Amino acid sequence: MRLEIALQACLPVLEFGLDAYRDWVGIVVYQGEFVARRRILDEDGIEHEYDETAMGEASNFGPVVLGWFDDFAEADGANVVIHEFAHKLDMLNGDADGCPPLHRGMSLDSWIEAFDLAFNDFCARVDAGEDTWIDPYASEDPAEFFAVCSEVFFTGSEVLKREYPEVYQQLALFYKQDPAKQDA
Ligand SMILES: [Zn+2]
Repeated sequence: MRLEIALQACLPVLEFGLDAYRDWVGIVVYQGEFVARRRILDEDGIEHEYDETAMGEASNFGPVVLGWFDDFAEADGANVVIHEFAHKLDMLNGDADGCPPLHRGMSLDSWIEAFDLAFNDFCARVDAGEDTWIDPYASEDPAEFFAVCSEVFFTGSEVLKREYPEVYQQLALFYKQDPAKQDA
């Protein structure tokens, strides 16, 4: 289990080193989905508590929490490890917002343009009830869109390259990998 998590967690940072996972330690593993207690403060300052079922969770400076699935199909084809570690990379420059710190030579404008266009298009497709190739959970917010696209980048690269070539291009620059080319 440790080896499998380690292998998957290393895949995104293969070309830029383990330092990307600095400033935090710990991976908590649950069997399957788990229930997380959430607390939110509403506009009137009243705190609400509720339970939410999750497959994984990443928070600033906290551990990564993973649901472990013996059968890949149980997770609906999601790659929880890559997903949560992508959130961790996104958090290297603050809260998860779908924009991790980019490498020298990359353009923030190009990143934002590619992701904004794709995210808006994807949300419209989900709202229209389309049966999308990419997990509709990606329409939740830009941070989830980045994490889900990162999963697809590594596990179904041709799909991402076909659906959102500009996003694929940005992720190829960011991860310094071109998995669709390697698969071909
Ligand atoms: Zn997520």
